[in-house]
Amino acid sequence: MRIASRNASPKSAAFRLRFQDGAELVLTEAGSKKRAGVWLLTPEQADAELAHLGPEALGLGAGRLAEILQADSRRLHSLLRDQRAIAGIGRAWANEILHHAKLSPYALSGDLDPGQVRRLAEAIDAELSRGLELRERGAADNRVYRVHKKLAEPCYVCGTPIARVDYEEHTVYYCPDCREACDVSLANTSVD
Ligand SMILES: [Zn+2]
Repeated sequence: MRIASRNASPKSAAFRLRFQDGAELVLTEAGSKKRAGVWLLTPEQADAELAHLGPEALGLGAGRLAEILQADSRRLHSLLRDQRAIAGIGRAWANEILHHAKLSPYALSGDLDPGQVRRLAEAIDAELSRGLELRERGAADNRVYRVHKKLAEPCYVCGTPIARVDYEEHTVYYCPDCREACDVSLANTSVD
């Protein structure tokens, strides 16, 4: 959802709220499953609806992130996507963030050292900021994502073809050469 000027407003909006000054709050949904919606709630109802969410991902910081990572040792890709732990990261951004941080999607959150936690916190901010800026300019998925759904395309850091692996219900995209050499191998997962 974003604020758009009347000139730049997308035509295929699922929801559009027009303000008196001409600006619009516009909801578009790129996926085909159409799960987005708009609800009108009182502040109390909104608090109750959002109570299960973790802290906002953007601006989380290394200190708070370290607490979340240590609270429950889980694979990084799963943990980043869990809205109860951290709000605002889906599977695509989990791929982008972990690539940026040079961390394996399968590394266990409790195993990260302080330097890796700092790198992950920086990657969350850098990638979400980059994505927001591009989205506000109307960029489509293929420009916004650099790793997600880029199977066999060259990694933007090292040129190695991007690989993918199916994991839980999700397809994880990653660069085999950009992860740290010491991280968890992809053995025991189905590679296609
Ligand atoms: Zn790479």
